[in-house]
Amino acid sequence: MIDYHTHVGTEEHWGPRFIAESRKMRASGISIATTLPQHRAATAQLERCVVLAFKSIALGFEVPNDYVAEYVRSDPQRFIGFLSVDPHDPGALEELRHAHRDLGLRGIKMSSVYQAFHPMDPRVLPIYAYADRHGLPLLLHQGTTFPQQAPLRYARPSLLEDVALAFPELRIIIAHLGHPWEVETIAVVRKQPHVWSDISGLFYRPWQLYNSLLLCQEYGVMEKLLFGSDFPVATAEETAAGLRAIVGLPQGTHFPSVDPERIEALIARDALAELNLT
Ligand SMILES: [Zn+2]
Repeated sequence: MIDYHTHVGTEEHWGPRFIAESRKMRASGISIATTLPQHRAATAQLERCVVLAFKSIALGFEVPNDYVAEYVRSDPQRFIGFLSVDPHDPGALEELRHAHRDLGLRGIKMSSVYQAFHPMDPRVLPIYAYADRHGLPLLLHQGTTFPQQAPLRYARPSLLEDVALAFPELRIIIAHLGHPWEVETIAVVRKQPHVWSDISGLFYRPWQLYNSLLLCQEYGVMEKLLFGSDFPVATAEETAAGLRAIVGLPQGTHFPSVDPERIEALIARDALAELNLT
């Protein structure tokens, strides 16, 4: 099993405002913070695991590239580190080069909604160009999120179509199927050959996920979905169980089912070669 979406980061990294808002978001009241031993234990059974840095000047958090790089070096056979830069940072390109060349991070995590930029903002285009030139996949949280100050006007998944058209070889992964605009994400993934999506953070809204997976099946894009847990929000085991439960959801009704074999293929998917991550 490969988990394409996991977070690390302590309360200090996420900062008090983001931690407080993340507590409010979850019924458990548990924040988004986690420790490296907790991450290591939760991901121990995974074959490979993407570990994300994440920086937002607008929301005041930073899980630093150095921190992720050092952790990834502790288990380089399994961990794949993604760097993060914020287009509002005048030193973003320099940091990008450093995190890629010196720290050896393999992909980029960014987000228009968390980082408050339009996906075609001129300041972000050099970052895409660098990623394109060096084959770094881009994991974009495009869709809604919980902080009050994260601007929804930049959040629509269809805004990424222009990025895909400008950089047709760039590997783009839209996180969380672009929720709650899964339909829009599916439309982009279907049309753009190198746009993928991960299904992390969705199984606890089973009705919406059932409809989304069914639509993926009908549009023929199930093979471009990636497995992810969004740890520490959920574990890979919980996510796999949640996905398998979707198959049984319409039982006793006349509604169509999501193909269980396709669900198993999604859970087992190795798309590392297609994403330049081998
Ligand atoms: Zn996430």
